[in-house]
Amino acid sequence: MPETEVTCASCQACCCRLEVMLITDTGVPQEHISEDKWGAQTMRRLDDGWCSAIDRKTFLCTIYEQRPWICREFEMGSDECLDERAMLGKD
Ligand code: SF4
Ligand code: SF4
Repeated sequence: MPETEVTCASCQACCCRLEVMLITDTGVPQEHISEDKWGAQTMRRLDDGWCSAIDRKTFLCTIYEQRPWICREFEMGSDECLDERAMLGKD
């Protein structure tokens, strides 16, 4: 058994600091979208490093029903998840 169980509840959404490309239209509100000069869209990130759609107090996604496909696919406990947690000192 790992000493600390991997759960989003103890995580402060480390993965919501990653670059998230928008590859399908899931209805993300425009104010949360960044677009580069070639038209590629990503989730906007604020100066603190987190996605602009995250609630800074609860660390919950405020656009959960419209969240991007990549966010839907990101698996708790996956290698990527563990890497992100390690980066923020969660494990
Ligand atoms: S990094 Fe992993 S544990 Fe943390 S919020 Fe993302 S999926 Fe959940
Ligand atoms: S859209 Fe939601 S789940 Fe995706 S990175 Fe932003 S806050 Fe996290």
